[in-house]
Amino acid sequence: MKDQRHWIKVTHEFPRHPKTLALSDGAFRSLITAWCYAAEMKTDGFLTKNSIKTLAKPSKISELLEAGFLKKDEKTGGYILHDFTKHQTVKEETSKQVSQQKNAGSQGGKASAHKRWHADKGIKDPECEHCQAA
Ligand SMILES: [Zn+2]
Repeated sequence: MKDQRHWIKVTHEFPRHPKTLALSDGAFRSLITAWCYAAEMKTDGFLTKNSIKTLAKPSKISELLEAGFLKKDEKTGGYILHDFTKHQTVKEETSKQVSQQKNAGSQGGKASAHKRWHADKGIKDPECEHCQAA
């Protein structure tokens, strides 16, 4: 049976790209974590002020800003992952996949993501429907 889990896309050349090579190991890890978070929470690459604190240390956020992987969103004080919607699965496609799968595991995906990323860490994200319901 094909693996039903969701994934992010990373090109083969990503680790050896000059922009990537300039990152420390910690910033590299933070970037992958942020991509997975944005994909799992279906944020289309947007990270709130609060959510980014759980994903990366301030020094790593600075590195990612400097390398251009991350942009500050002046309107909200949050952050935007560079070209996320160009490369990764966006909200609409993810919802389509989930409804196509009609699979118990994927239906509970957002709730378990909320537990992992927010509830277990004691964080309230204004963008998260489960945080708002709590
Ligand atoms: Zn939440």
